[in-house]
Amino acid sequence: MPNTLAPDWLKLPVDANDLAQSVWSRNTSRNQAGELQIAGVSAGELVALHGTPLYVIDEDDFRARAASAKSVLTAAAEKIGSTAKVYYASKAFLSTEIVTWVDELGLNIDVASGGELAAALAGGIDPKRIGLHGNNKSNQEIGRAVSAGVGAIVIDSDIEIERIAAAAGAQDVVQGVRLRVNTGVHANTHDFLATAREDQKFGIPLSEAADLVAKIRSHSHLRFLGLHQHIGSQIFNADGFIESTKRLLGLHAELLAHGDIPEINLGGGFGVAYKPADEAPELGYFAEAIADTVSAVCADLGIEVPVLAFEPGRYIAGPAGITLYNVGTIKDVTVTDQGEPQVRKYVSVDGGMSDNARPALYQAEYHARIAGRKSDAKPALVRVVGKHCESGDIVVSHDYLPGDIKPNDLLAVATTGAYCHSLSSNYNFLTRPPVVAVRSGEARLIIRGETEADLFSRDIRFQEQQKNEKG
Ligand SMILES: *Cc1c(COP(=O)(O)O)cnc(C)c1O
Repeated sequence: MPNTLAPDWLKLPVDANDLAQSVWSRNTSRNQAGELQIAGVSAGELVALHGTPLYVIDEDDFRARAASAKSVLTAAAEKIGSTAKVYYASKAFLSTEIVTWVDELGLNIDVASGGELAAALAGGIDPKRIGLHGNNKSNQEIGRAVSAGVGAIVIDSDIEIERIAAAAGAQDVVQGVRLRVNTGVHANTHDFLATAREDQKFGIPLSEAADLVAKIRSHSHLRFLGLHQHIGSQIFNADGFIESTKRLLGLHAELLAHGDIPEINLGGGFGVAYKPADEAPELGYFAEAIADTVSAVCADLGIEVPVLAFEPGRYIAGPAGITLYNVGTIKDVTVTDQGEPQVRKYVSVDGGMSDNARPALYQAEYHARIAGRKSDAKPALVRVVGKHCESGDIVVSHDYLPGDIKPNDLLAVATTGAYCHSLSSNYNFLTRPPVVAVRSGEARLIIRGETEADLFSRDIRFQEQQKNEKG
């Protein structure tokens, strides 16, 4: 019998050990002992080496997703007589190691702050292949980007035009820039994630963009590369892209009257499956819908098809990640306010909103499996929660797990490669977990876990106390 506390989309699983292919990274399976393994390394081995919580990246999955993003988007652009530039939106998950993967695979990289820029540069990618975003770049960030030779800075306000022109002028270089436009299209997604409606901070309204482009073009130290849009995140339907792209191309065509425009940047936001019930479209669906729109609109307007730029983040990183937790306390909570009393099993793990803020930020749903063993026990409706002092500290809001789940079980949560490590915090003085990349039977630490010493490293009184004790 399904538990009436379960949402409609959550089906009672036939086998609560099952690893749905749509949410687990491609090299995840169960070994003969029934243990979850990633690229040939068992969950038990991984936590024996690195403890819990632990972020695990299936490196070949990440690489394959990055490579296919590039090839699928390029193929769609080539079909309409153009080419594609694919930027990995690094805020999804960034370390210098990740930069080397993205670089090797021939993708470009997007950054959104001086820190992300520093990481991209330290990862060794050619600065020409970096795009800098942000609605409030400091002069220092702009200066650093210009002197590093970043290929594109995405202008997000009138004020930035002068700032970037001044930095480029001072260094006597010509800086490539895009203009982020808010087309007013509401991507079909969660409200908080939608970034192209009117009443929000990103971009320039469509109606004001032409004046700003004229201003950009009036500066000899700026080169206008094209318009930019990013209509939201975790998008499952191409309709928003189609409408927004039409509007952006309309403006692009008008602007051609006063000079060439080599590119158009259509952003990222391609959705992924977080739970088995999610039916995320293939990237090819978006790529073709967008390319067909571009081709038709350009033919209609009698203009040349520009180079298409894209910025997938989550699509590349999300499904390649898994978080491993240790199960601590378990509580059966009887809920009586929905008719017949029903039990929800609260399973607490040794992390939570500090390593995955998305459920608390966006009511994001995730999917879990016991990682250390298989179980034939009847599935129970669970809510996996963290150890923080917040009732909204949820890791997996709704799922069925074997009813015999117990303290010290290892729990794996799927699709945690994007916006988990990058949004992590030290809330409640928890140390941020390490990140391990697994490939062909080998686990390689790419970001070490924080220690208590790290937590106190910025605490002045603590540091002085230590110094005095030593002295
Ligand atoms: C965050 C962001 C992206 C990537 O979004 P995903 O949903 O991870 O694909 C792309 N472009 C811009 C400008 C962004 O801010």
